[in-house]
Amino acid sequence: MKPPPPHPCKICQATITTRAEVCPRCRRHITNVEYTAHLLALLAAWDPVAKGSRCFYTGVLLEENDKSDPWYLAFDHRIPGKKGDLVVCARWVNSMKTALSDDEFRAVIIELDRSRKAKEPFNMAVAEFKYWKGPADHKPKKLPSLASPGCPKSENASSATAGPCRIPSSARNAER
Ligand SMILES: [Zn+2]
Repeated sequence: MKPPPPHPCKICQATITTRAEVCPRCRRHITNVEYTAHLLALLAAWDPVAKGSRCFYTGVLLEENDKSDPWYLAFDHRIPGKKGDLVVCARWVNSMKTALSDDEFRAVIIELDRSRKAKEPFNMAVAEFKYWKGPADHKPKKLPSLASPGCPKSENASSATAGPCRIPSSARNAER
């Protein structure tokens, strides 16, 4: 079989001499699970002038080699758990965003900035946290009802499984 004629990488346009549709540099960021979504996210993130990928949320040119770098290239499900809708972002953003949709993420960041500058309470209504399931060891069924002032750490031995302190949001803002 004759080798294919040289053709451009679908993402970065680098010349490819194999049958692959993306070059090795781009391919190593793409997993076989959600292959197309990864490819489309990389394509959208590609900056042809800077010759690198930019973070969807911050616009920062991302690190591609040092995996320990907070700016290392990562993928984020724009809606937590929703397959096939990926964006490229910095690894630290992905860690921080975890259970937030992109709208909720932006809303809480903007509100954090606003409340800090205005020295006003954080408006908890800016995000519903509708995808929030809590940490992996969180057991919703065992949550105590609204706690009395002071929120006892736990009725059980381990505070790690006790769930969050269920003080009403009005009380939480008033505490400040
Ligand atoms: Zn490429």
